[in-house]
Amino acid sequence: MAIVVLKLPNVKRKREERPKQCRYCEGETFQRWGNVNKPVKDIWVRNVKVYRYRCCRCKRSFRYYPEGNTKADQTERLRLFAVLLWRLGLSHRASSLILSGWKVRVSFMTIWRDVQAEAQMIKKRNHWKPVRVLGLDGAHVLGWGEKRSVLVAVDLGTGEPIALGYVNEYDPQAVRRWLAPLVQRHGITVIVTDDLASYKIVAEKLQLAHQVCQFHVRRWIGKTLQHLQETIPKEWLWVLEEIRKLLDLLPPDASKTLYALWKLLPGRRSKRNQARLALEQLRNLLLRLSQDWPRFCAFQSEPQVPWTNNSTEQVIGRMKMRTRTVRGYKSWSGMQSGLLLAGTYTT
Ligand SMILES: [Zn+2]
Repeated sequence: MAIVVLKLPNVKRKREERPKQCRYCEGETFQRWGNVNKPVKDIWVRNVKVYRYRCCRCKRSFRYYPEGNTKADQTERLRLFAVLLWRLGLSHRASSLILSGWKVRVSFMTIWRDVQAEAQMIKKRNHWKPVRVLGLDGAHVLGWGEKRSVLVAVDLGTGEPIALGYVNEYDPQAVRRWLAPLVQRHGITVIVTDDLASYKIVAEKLQLAHQVCQFHVRRWIGKTLQHLQETIPKEWLWVLEEIRKLLDLLPPDASKTLYALWKLLPGRRSKRNQARLALEQLRNLLLRLSQDWPRFCAFQSEPQVPWTNNSTEQVIGRMKMRTRTVRGYKSWSGMQSGLLLAGTYTT
């Protein structure tokens, strides 16, 4: 269950103090110009008193709403409460039904619009936010096609999503096109990803420091080592032990050791159309680890870089709770807003 941190705003029935400044000019003195009882949609308040003021300078008049109210029918509190229900996993219709328990009639379309508006506010808030370390991961959603994934970018300083892209994460060109403006705008210097080849290419092209999530690395290397344990000639088993030791300690300069081990192993003997021999697989593993090693250890030299991409996966987990709903949205921009809101921890 996602934890949503949300403080509902106050709603006042009336506002005694006068406006400080005119909405249209610099004017600072006003005449009261009547009042209305405005019915509102809220959990506790049924109507509020709204004074009208006339500016003594420009002679225009305007409504001056009490705290927590706007020209909309719903109070700010109700709007955020509806959004909260949605974020807790209820459908638009169920949220609407729950509100009817407070004798508040809000249509599910209104709640949909509330959700969209809230997402817009989050987007605006995040637009120029400085982000040093960015987590990236593809969220694969059932029914959205094999290769198409939603690329999720998370500020690892706060654990909040800052952008979503409808981008194939296996295509380095596409990822780069999408990421470059974000890097510029937020001042990103480090990315944390799984060990997909496309991220390595993108990190190099955009000159970003790169940490590869150690959970991912350990999973696939662990499997590979297990397999090799049973297949390589016994006299080479000690090499597997060396690799395991290095992975435990993650010494930053292990590239050289791994490269030396690679040189020690006999070269390719299988023919082109033959399956690779176990020893050749080990040799490939050594070369790959030697090349990628600095990406395993970036967190040791870069401050505040986590060694896993766990925060990004948590954001995706929160989004997945809502993908069934969001899949029904007609436009990508609607889906994006829904997912962004679902993935955000606070408002
Ligand atoms: Zn004025």
